[in-house]
Amino acid sequence: MRVLSIGECMAELAPAPNPGDYRLGFAGDTFNTAWYLARLGVAVEYLTAVGDDAISDRMLAAMQAGGVGTAHVARLPGSTVGLYLITLADGERSFSYWRGQSAARRLADDPARLTAAMAEADTIYLSGITLAILAPDARATLIAALDAARRHGATIAFDPNLRPRLWPDAASMTQAIMEMAARTDIALPSHEDEATWFGDADPAATAARYAEAGARLVVVKDGANPVLWRSPDADGTVPVAPVQDVVDTTAAGDSFNAGFLAGLAQGAPLPDAIARGCHLSAQVVQGRGALVETVPV
Ligand code: ADP
Repeated sequence: MRVLSIGECMAELAPAPNPGDYRLGFAGDTFNTAWYLARLGVAVEYLTAVGDDAISDRMLAAMQAGGVGTAHVARLPGSTVGLYLITLADGERSFSYWRGQSAARRLADDPARLTAAMAEADTIYLSGITLAILAPDARATLIAALDAARRHGATIAFDPNLRPRLWPDAASMTQAIMEMAARTDIALPSHEDEATWFGDADPAATAARYAEAGARLVVVKDGANPVLWRSPDADGTVPVAPVQDVVDTTAAGDSFNAGFLAGLAQGAPLPDAIARGCHLSAQVVQGRGALVETVPV
């Protein structure tokens, strides 16, 4: 299986042990999933746009060091990447973002580039954040390319990753998410967020809403609670072994998606593929940051 992951990778400044020092890293939801897919041995390309400055060079190098293909990363002259900074107060992490001008917002400006990248992929992965950072016309361009790729046989996997602050208002977010659900093969929502913004009473309600919108397979994550799945002719749950010492839940959902998609790619039955997602994300919540280098795969 060849995966194309589409979205925004950002520069990350995280507190270093020496007070006042920060460590530079690179992360972003769809990139995190690509990075874990590569670690699991899946061939994965990342489609985004970066600038032509030094930090963009370092981001590309980090992608390549992680085994993620960069053939579909556009370089936009005079532009740069988005940045976020993590602040720690009493063990709680808070995030400040500078991403309004990031090159990734223009990742869908060239329809021919999208078509060429998608033609090489069996599975195309994106998130609600990918949709949120695009202007409405660029989002329409991306969706048209996804529809064409799907007609040619590609599987579309979508994590709604609801981030209301990236949208003008909640109604435009929920509308865009459900429009995407209608052209999704594999939906990977997290129940807690979905309950907040769609009022789902339980994970089964989340699964039903995505299935009715058109998703063939829905896998609903719910923190330490069981993962619920629903396909056209069956449904079920897979238990999660709760982690007692959670260190940092950043990228729990992103790494789950990677473990699950890698399991499917390697031909695992559905419950086994879900269990692989659970296994990987359980390791990730016990490490610090989005990309946990020490995760055994
Ligand atoms: P998101 O990061 O999208 O909010 P969730 O919090 O639902 O996603 O978590 C995604 C997956 O991470 C879960 O399905 C589960 O497999 C794993 N996970 C999250 N929290 C825990 C926990 N406390 N113990 C064990 N696994 C967890």
